[in-house]
Amino acid sequence: MADYDLAIIGGGLNGVSIARDAAGRGLRVILLEQGDLGAGASSASPRLIHGDLASLERRHFLRVRRALAERDIWLRIAPHLVRPMRFAIPAHSDERPDWQLRSWLLLYDRLASRSGLPASATVDVTHHPIGNALKRPFGTAFEYSDCVVDDSRLVVLTAVDAAVRGAVIRTGARCTRAERGKEWRLVTIDRGFRQVITARAIANASGAWTSSVAETVLRVPPPKVAAVQMDQIVVRRLFDSDNIYVFQNSDGRLIFASPYERDFTLIGTASHAFKGDPAIVAMAANDVAYLCDAANRYFRERIETVDVVRTLSGANMVRNAASGRDGAMTLDHERAEAPLLTMFGGDVTTSRLRAERAVSKLTPFYPMSPRWTAKAPLPGGDFAWDRFDNEVEELRERWRFLGDDQARRLVGAYGTNAKAILGDAKERSDLGPAFGPELTGAEVRYLMQKEWARFPDDILWRRSKLGLTMSSADREALAAFMAAAT
Ligand SMILES: Cc1cc2nc3c(=O)[nH]c(=O)nc-3n(C[C@H](O)[C@H](O)[C@H](O)COP(=O)(O)OP(=O)(O)OC[C@H]3O[C@@H](n4cnc5c(N)ncnc54)[C@H](O)[C@@H]3O)c2cc1C
Repeated sequence: MADYDLAIIGGGLNGVSIARDAAGRGLRVILLEQGDLGAGASSASPRLIHGDLASLERRHFLRVRRALAERDIWLRIAPHLVRPMRFAIPAHSDERPDWQLRSWLLLYDRLASRSGLPASATVDVTHHPIGNALKRPFGTAFEYSDCVVDDSRLVVLTAVDAAVRGAVIRTGARCTRAERGKEWRLVTIDRGFRQVITARAIANASGAWTSSVAETVLRVPPPKVAAVQMDQIVVRRLFDSDNIYVFQNSDGRLIFASPYERDFTLIGTASHAFKGDPAIVAMAANDVAYLCDAANRYFRERIETVDVVRTLSGANMVRNAASGRDGAMTLDHERAEAPLLTMFGGDVTTSRLRAERAVSKLTPFYPMSPRWTAKAPLPGGDFAWDRFDNEVEELRERWRFLGDDQARRLVGAYGTNAKAILGDAKERSDLGPAFGPELTGAEVRYLMQKEWARFPDDILWRRSKLGLTMSSADREALAAFMAAAT
């Protein structure tokens, strides 16, 4: 008998979503990730959980409706990671006419009819906080509801849930070769050691590596795909309101500017064809300038390329370079050989549904329990989405040394599992050494023991974004602490 029913190559959102779905349906699953979970494109997504106005403009109504239904599911199963927000599109005299924006948003409201989020509205920004950050000529904006997500933590907590349901998650484990017969025989380099495992099926969820993994690891014809790069920039916080701005750029694209980690603004996206090594996806200077210019058309406070504190870039495969996003999921099981599932691209919003459909394709090969992921909360997500503030309050009442910002970050990252980190602490020093004002030894230990964090960057850029503000002395102390705790 094979060691596993399903071996998954790739620990991005697609890979972990397949792992969670399959493990919960009773399959014996192993996931192999060559680096850290979410270290690829999945930590550079636009962080939107949305129906996608661009799809609405292209008249893909069914797709929008499906995505909005998924948005509601995410709010229910991940109320800590997925937060509702009001999005604001300032009307611009040179861009889409007001009547068009208004009718789009009315249709958007209709397509999201089951959602409990507020409907769209027209706002006079001269008397509204939305207007404070905008240049003077903007008098009107159109507001609507959608959600944002912490994309990296979505990957990690999906993997945690998969593991809780029996999946084996191996980070630092690269699949270098897989021989296909009645079952797959995989060779992996797992933290420096060569290992061989067998599996009844493989899922290639290696993102921008999909073609090279197909050709060099699995030795099957690569799928017909295009590689696309997506870029975003992070600058100091440009506005105080708790909105996401949607700017109509002069090239017709929609550019998002969102509050990011309290003190910053995330602006994106720029995208274009990608060539090169997916392990090194760097943002070009002209793309940085493109996003700065897009923001400068609208915001009063000007930004220059030197103001960019971080760039976020990812590459993935898409079926159609023109849309820049369409993913695919295929099953290949010719000649009575072990099945091969391939899943790449796609957006964060529909990742759960796509994984569910991908795993369902394997039903002819294994007995499997029914679909389940739409109803089961991710770890820590066992509360209603409109009770987020109550969770924060509860935490502050019990652990009185926590400030509001700290409690919000903990609930946003861990949900109800924040309590497991805080334990019996009566004061902050009970949580061990502090690495800056936010991170404590207790949290670091938790991340190492429960969430596969191995190196400081795993914590500073994926399990959190504390790397944006942490001093180099604190980073060094963190590195020493983690080395000693290993
Ligand atoms: C241009 C572009 C536009 C996008 N637009 C949107 C959008 O508008 N909205 C939205 O929600 N999302 C968007 N996304 C989607 C999102 O960023 C990701 O595509 C999504 O998170 C799924 O990623 P993934 O799991 O396929 O790939 P990744 O996150 O890159 O994961 C693949 C993983 O496979 C691992 N791997 C590779 N080879 C091996 C091996 N041999 N052994 C072990 N591990 C291996 C890699 O290390 C990597 O971690 C866009 C993506 C791109 C590229």
